[in-house]
Amino acid sequence: MPIFDPDQIQVPVGHFIGGRLQTPAGAALEVQRPSDGKVYAALPVADEALVDIAAENAWTAWKESDWARCAPRDRARVLRRWADLVEAEAPRLGVLEALGSTRPVRDAIAWDVPFTAEGLRFFAEYADKLGGEVAATRHDHLGMVIAEPYGLIGAITPWNFPLVMVSWKVGAALAAGNAVLLKPSELTPFSALRLAELAIQAGVPAGIFNIVQGDGRTTGEAITRHPRVSKMTFTGSTRTGAAIMSACALHGPKPVTLELGGKSPQLVFDDVRDLDKLAATIAGAITGNAGQVCVAGSRLIVQRRVAGALVERIRAIFTGHRPGATWDEDATLPPIISAQQAARIAAIVERAQAAGGRVKCGGRIVDGGYGGAYYLPTLIDGVDTANPAVSEEIFGPVLTVQTFDDEEEGFALASHDSYGLAAGVHTSDVGRAMRAVRRIEAGTVWVNRYGRSADFVIPTGGYHQSGIGKDLGRQAVEANLRFKSVLMDIGSPQ
Ligand code: NAD
Repeated sequence: MPIFDPDQIQVPVGHFIGGRLQTPAGAALEVQRPSDGKVYAALPVADEALVDIAAENAWTAWKESDWARCAPRDRARVLRRWADLVEAEAPRLGVLEALGSTRPVRDAIAWDVPFTAEGLRFFAEYADKLGGEVAATRHDHLGMVIAEPYGLIGAITPWNFPLVMVSWKVGAALAAGNAVLLKPSELTPFSALRLAELAIQAGVPAGIFNIVQGDGRTTGEAITRHPRVSKMTFTGSTRTGAAIMSACALHGPKPVTLELGGKSPQLVFDDVRDLDKLAATIAGAITGNAGQVCVAGSRLIVQRRVAGALVERIRAIFTGHRPGATWDEDATLPPIISAQQAARIAAIVERAQAAGGRVKCGGRIVDGGYGGAYYLPTLIDGVDTANPAVSEEIFGPVLTVQTFDDEEEGFALASHDSYGLAAGVHTSDVGRAMRAVRRIEAGTVWVNRYGRSADFVIPTGGYHQSGIGKDLGRQAVEANLRFKSVLMDIGSPQ
């Protein structure tokens, strides 16, 4: 049953510069709904000249407004008001989010929007708590380390959780007293505009939070290169992150925070107690958002004694999924973001089979009855670490299965040559759990659970090719501050 009629939903279209929505004529990209593949809007593309106007405008607003100079608690109050407005709009924002993304509307209303609002509140609380420190110097000196905002931060976000990703980048940067120039993904560009409108209503000064729309090559690169942008923060693929980092080196150098791809293991020992519960956790960690999650648990590594029983339970859950549009309340599996991305998933699964992998279920694209591209939850066994389904990030509902006998072998399989974003460990032996925590090279390890909670205080970020720096936690706000050292002679009058 459809919860809303997608053809009846109006979307805001344009750039958000200087506190208002602007829709200039010029190049435009067609934007499709992933649920049914229908083109529903044209996205203006900000070229270098427009990015320059937006960046200069943001820089002037940052210099001239009170945002960086006001009492930090006043800044916090504005951010909290913004969060309240976002939360109050959950039904409308959730529909906007679901319309053009892969987020099921019920989840978008009940989870994405409240999570976005709560993230903004979390960052607001840091506005007056990271001022710097007094240094331990000799008594006739006074040394201080003063935390200051950078000025203008450039932010580039992906399509998989459009609102949440924007709130993490923008919330942390604004709480620290910066202005932001954001480019959302060209595949899911619109919900951020409503966030920006609500920011103005809440009292964020015009020009402090700006959005320019467009593709990576045109708009993203122009933001990264711009001399007024003092720092970049990015979430997306490892390949794009590397390109941004190299542009930051050439056009600065300027610092960069990178939240990148993953190939996260779910490591299961045979002392686990509840295989039904565990199967649900493991399946959910790779089918949620159809596997289009940076921390998706895409590699099951399971001790041989429980492998058969666990995999059979997971297979039953996988085959019970019903693909369907984000506005269909009976659907349990949302679409892949685009037909091209679904074809990419299919190609990796084919290569995995050619390398010896056996597809136990799924392994194909269907249209879900809507005309979109849906990839059925897929289990592949018979793989080794060199198999493409194990080595490459797939970003779809594809779970590989590898078995092991002893603990050492399990730890070795859990580590990955390139990625280190997250990992799950399932065992009833606390010592073994902590040995795994020590051994696994990843930015996050979950024990006897998989996935984030609403504890924003726990930072998120990757090791190795999964990234540099953290989103969330105190560390995310600190990443938006630079530190000025002050040393005074106070021993005698001058
Ligand atoms: P992507 O790298 O293709 O695009 C991300 C953003 O970068 C988009 O806005 C795009 O327009 C822009 N971009 C592309 N080329 C650019 C360039 N040369 N210069 C500047 N900007 C450019 O990633 P995606 O397909 O949108 O998202 C999926 C990827 O994001 C996956 O790899 C996933 O693991 C990763 N991701 C990571 C996290 C995390 O927290 N680590 C969270 C979500 C997604």
